[in-house]
Amino acid sequence: MTDLPLDPFFSGPGLDRADALRADEAALRGLAQSSDARQLRWSDGLPLLTPGGRLDWGEASDPQLFLGFSGESPRFSAIEAVSADARSAFPLMALLNADDAPLFAAALSLARWHGRHGFCATCGHSTDIVRGGWSRRCPACTAEHFPRVHPVVIMLAEHDSRLLLGRQPHYPPGRYSALAGFVEVGENLEAAVARELYEEAGIRVRNIRYVASQPWPFPSSLMFGCHAEAESDTLTVDTAELENARWFTREEVAAALTGTADASFQPPPRSAIARTLLERWLAS
Ligand SMILES: [Zn+2]
Repeated sequence: MTDLPLDPFFSGPGLDRADALRADEAALRGLAQSSDARQLRWSDGLPLLTPGGRLDWGEASDPQLFLGFSGESPRFSAIEAVSADARSAFPLMALLNADDAPLFAAALSLARWHGRHGFCATCGHSTDIVRGGWSRRCPACTAEHFPRVHPVVIMLAEHDSRLLLGRQPHYPPGRYSALAGFVEVGENLEAAVARELYEEAGIRVRNIRYVASQPWPFPSSLMFGCHAEAESDTLTVDTAELENARWFTREEVAAALTGTADASFQPPPRSAIARTLLERWLAS
């Protein structure tokens, strides 16, 4: 049906994060000075890729963030000013090797977090980098601050063997994808799925189930891919959120994923978990 992988892009362990070493500042200094140490190279606010799509590494000259080990080689990054426009990263996504994607995501989210969290949210004092760059501590009030992860639900609603997909105004021509939204405080994943589908498409759903997850480093979301059964196929589309939404048959989804010339829509790119959700639905 499709030869694309069924695991979400950006998922997987990436490096050995060696988190037990993070609190040992002397050990991290020693690792940074070892001949095996390498530092991630950046360009225009994004990790630099080789022409083959692998992350590019250089000398460990400014090892502020300890990313972990690749084999015996300790890997570091400086805290770079991250590109504010996520869309500038999308051409890179088409080139990035899937094996390096988890580390790309971690480095990008971590660097961006440092760039935006230099001051204590409790007292306003400037904070220090600790734990190899995996947190910041306030010297004034001792509060420790950790990188935030923002949960997002992204879901396929199904009715009578058809899937609901929507179009946001900024999508490339013809693109349709799964509906999505941030989980709000005090809400579980199922409640967020039901609320978003009702808000954006006016449908009530049941039998909500989790399918797969994916870190999404623009800037630091964790996407929870879900599936739900719609109680009816009558849509009321929120045009403030979506340009359009409609139901697609299994044949239409199959044609889109295989890139058939007369496919009725363009699927999301392989870096998006929405693509994984479509592939798994088709394979089920
Ligand atoms: Zn403080």
